[in-house]
Order: sequence, then C-alpha cells, then structure tokens
Amino acid sequence: MATRVYGIDLGTTYSCISYCDESGRPVVVPNAEGELTTPSVVFFENPSNVVVGVQAKNASKVEPERVAAFVKRSMGDGSYRFNVDGREHTPEEISSLVLRKVVGDAAQALGEPITDVVITCPAYFGNNEREATRNAGKLAGLNVRHILNEPTAAAICYGLINAGVEKTVLVYDLGGGTFDITVIAIKEKSIEVVCTGGNFRLGGKDWDDRIIDYFAQAFVERHPDIGDPRDDPYAFQELVTAAEACKKGLSTKDRWPQMVVHGGVRERVELTREKFEEITADLLEQTVELTRNVLEQAKERGYSRIDQVLLVGGSSKMPAVAKRLGEVFGIESQLFEPDLAVAKGAALMGVRLVAGELLREAIAADRGGQAADVDLEQVDRKTLEDVARKVAADGGRVLRLPGKELADYASTRVRNVSSKAFGVAIVDDRDNDKVAHLIGANTPLPAEHLETGFGTRVANQVTVRLRVMEQAGEVASSVFEDNRLIGDGELTGLPQPLPAGAPIHVKFRLREDGTLEVMGFEPNSKREVTFQIKVDGILSDEEVAERRSDLMQIQVS
Ligand code: ADP
Ligand code: MG
Repeated sequence: MATRVYGIDLGTTYSCISYCDESGRPVVVPNAEGELTTPSVVFFENPSNVVVGVQAKNASKVEPERVAAFVKRSMGDGSYRFNVDGREHTPEEISSLVLRKVVGDAAQALGEPITDVVITCPAYFGNNEREATRNAGKLAGLNVRHILNEPTAAAICYGLINAGVEKTVLVYDLGGGTFDITVIAIKEKSIEVVCTGGNFRLGGKDWDDRIIDYFAQAFVERHPDIGDPRDDPYAFQELVTAAEACKKGLSTKDRWPQMVVHGGVRERVELTREKFEEITADLLEQTVELTRNVLEQAKERGYSRIDQVLLVGGSSKMPAVAKRLGEVFGIESQLFEPDLAVAKGAALMGVRLVAGELLREAIAADRGGQAADVDLEQVDRKTLEDVARKVAADGGRVLRLPGKELADYASTRVRNVSSKAFGVAIVDDRDNDKVAHLIGANTPLPAEHLETGFGTRVANQVTVRLRVMEQAGEVASSVFEDNRLIGDGELTGLPQPLPAGAPIHVKFRLREDGTLEVMGFEPNSKREVTFQIKVDGILSDEEVAERRSDLMQIQVS
C-alpha cells in the first residue's frame, strides 16, 4: 500500500515541507505559527524541551549559548558538537529536531501521521553529508525514501522535466547562509548535475550584516558620545532582526526607515534601495564571479548554451540579483516561488516514487512475482497506460492522477548522476599513496563496480585495510591529496590459509541518492568478508537507534 511521501527542504536558515494533493499539485503546509517556512534554528530551553523556528531565533537575543543555527554547514563534519546542559549534539541530531518541528506541525495541521519523506541537499554534498542528512531523518523517526539534490528539486518544481525535452538549466540558489550555483542537463531519461560551485559561507546573512553596520555607523556618527549599538548585546540583537526586515522590505520598497535604540537614545535612520545595493554590490559580484566559473566549467564539458536560468533561495528575491545576471550574462532569469520551489520539487519527486510503486504493485499482481522486481523501463507504454488507468480508477489510494499522468510520472524517471568520483587508496610501487577510482564522476545512479584487481600483500593475511576515498576537487585525480578519506576500515575474517597476492574483490555500490556501500569478497571461497568501516563523522545504525531513543525524550515545539 502506497503511502503519501512528503518533500522537505532542510535549509541552512529556513526549512519547508510540502506534499502533493490527489491531483498531483504540490502544496506547502504552514507551521504552527502560520508560516510557510520555519527558521532552522533550535533553542534548547531545558534538557527535556526544545523550541524550533521563529521563537528559537528570538531566544538567541536572550540566551545565545543555548541556540544552535547554521548546522547544515557542518553536516558530515565529525568535529562539530553543540554543547548544552552537559550534552553534546551532532549536526544530524540538531537537524533531526528541526525535522521533527516541521513534520510535527504539518502532521498536526493535516491530521494525519507523516512517515515517508524525500529530503533535499545541495548538489555538492558528498557521501558523508548525505549520510548525515539521511541520519537526521532517521533520528526524527522518518523513513527517508530519497535524498534529492536541491537544484534538481527546483527544476522538477518548475516543470522542466518532461519526456523528450532536452535542456540545460542554470540554477542560481542564494539562500540565507549559502550560495549554490549548478548547471544541470535535463535529458530524455536522466537529469545530470553537470557541475556545481558556490560558497557555503555566502548568503542573505552577509547582506543583513552590511545593513547592521550601516545602521550602527549612522547612529555613531550622530551620537559619538553614546557609543556603538553593536557593542551592546541587546541593541545588537535588535539590529539583527531589524536588518533582515529592512532587507526584505527593500525587495519591494524604495526606502526603509528604522529606529535605532541604544543607550536611552532613539535615532531614526533611513536606508534606500539604491544605497543598499551600493553597500552590498561586492557580495553580489562574488556570486557573479562564481556563476562565471561554473558556466566556464560547463562549457568545458560541452554545455555551452544555457536554455533557462532558475532563481531559487529567498535572497534571490532581491531585485538586484535578476538585474545583474541579465546585465552580465545577457540571460533572462525566472523567479518563481524561490522559498518553496525546493520543497515542492521534493514533494513531486515523492509522487514519482509513489506512482512507480503503485504501477509496479499492479503489474506484479497481474503477472505474478514481486513488485520490487518489476522494471518499469522495460514495460511497453501501452501496458503502462492500461495499468495506470486501472490504478487511477481504484479509489482510496493516495494518488488520483489520471492514468496518462500516472504513467508519465512513473516512466520519466529522474535519474541522477554521481557528482563525485569514489575509489580506494592504494600504495604504488614506490610506496606512495594513490587513489584508484572505482566509480567515476557523472556515472548514472545507481552504479556498481566490482574491482577484482586487489590482493593480499603477505601470506596468511587475516585482514585487509581499505581506505575509501571521495573526489575532493573539481576534477577527479589519482593524487592522494586531491581526495578526501571518507572511511577507513578493515575487511576481516579472510579464510585461512591464504597465499600472498590472493585476490580480494571489492564491490562499490553508489545508491540512487549518492551514498556509498562497500562490500568485500574472497573470490575462491566466495565468502563475503565483513567490512567494518568507520565513516568519519557519521553515526552508525546502532548509534542512530540509540541516539534516537534518547532524542525522543525531548519535546519539540
Ligand atoms: P536556505 O535555503 O539557505 O535556508 P532560503 O532559501 O530560505 O535559505 O533563504 C533565506 C534567506 O532569504 C534569508 O537570508 C532571508 O532573509 C532571505 N529572504 C527571504 N525573503 C526575502 C526577500 N523578500 N527579499 C530579500 N531576502 C529575502
Ligand atoms: Mg535553500
């Protein structure tokens, strides 16, 4: 029985949840405060209660040491810990609390439990960041059906994925704390991230900071004797809130008056849109430069024409963005629900998953066999539509799409490609560390590679060390330093005795969501040897289960 799948944009600064109604249209569910997006900010009020969202953002004025924000930047980073009440929290744990708020509010609003989700992440996220995102979902008690690239989600939301239409799209995503720029190629049966760039420390917050400085300096100029409001924590936090409101206001208005209150003095300060654009021009230019880089890379890979530019991320609502992109690149850009497009695209991805599941179930019921073994790409169009019509007529299901649409959703699969190369570290003849890639960048997912060229070094070796590596730079390179060690582990339980140079097979499987699975075999006994990998900074399944029961003791509101 198919279940409804929800789409969640787990953002650096704001998160959002959406589902598709029975006619397949994505709908964003407001939170308990009535807002469509929720600040990804967590306030640890006390050991058994956390508050997420706008109230947590407000709490940072009073108890900043109890408030965690921007944790997405630390996803997959084993060294990040947020310490509060004598407890340490990992980025995925804090993210799980954000998920619980967003999911809990939506379940409350809709009056139905939410179990299955698609969560989005930036295209540049590697294995560890994706595993951490998946773990955040598991820690929140969710069944994470898919981890979807944010630019891909945006493209799905914009309705760009139609069978047979080939397009190259530039997705410019300027969020609250990050800037991501991605070229994606939409092909008949796949959607490929051609290249991606950006700066994960550049976003709306930097624009806010310029406004804070502007207001503070204006105040100091007029009241040099009173001092700088930025030095007073209370006045400063007021400025933080005011700056964001001012910035948003200037997206539609020409001027914004602001009261700056400090040391018992109230001073009226005004910022015009023109002045705002002048004091933030260098920030915008940084995004332009990064866009230029990515366009050049795309060109090198054979994508020299961009058919469409999509603006996503709340900060792309600043009018200067579209204007400047038009001036520099001569391309029109489209701004369409920049705050919601990613969550909606994730919900639409959820519909595709459900549609596929319903059709596979129906076909398996007709033919016999397991639904999981039905490959929809091998089913002819007519059969698919016939089955889809039957499924559509069967009321009471989560989807009531017309048969043709159901068939379309199920058959035009969104097939992602690996955005990085994966391999193992090997020692060459001169005893230098090198990397042999087993799965290249841009390989359609899921991908598998069985490597048969490895062997034991000495006789009767009982374990083999395996260092799993991920491409770190823009292009794949066998130089050790151009890669990142994502897992260091041992193949254990090799059958004995074994001669030196006995072959050991290693299988890499890159799942559809870009996460990696590694297996080892001793081919003569065909025995699967266990591979115990300690992935740096990622909770193991046991740790997730353990931490989850702990976290579930905490109330989230
Ligand atoms: P993320 O995905 O990084 O969490 P979002 O895409 O939700 O972020 O964008 C949040 C940022 O967008 C914040 O800095 C917010 O102040 C900014 N923002 C939202 N609405 C507007 C607006 N109307 N004009 C300018 N900036 C805006
Ligand atoms: Mg975002």
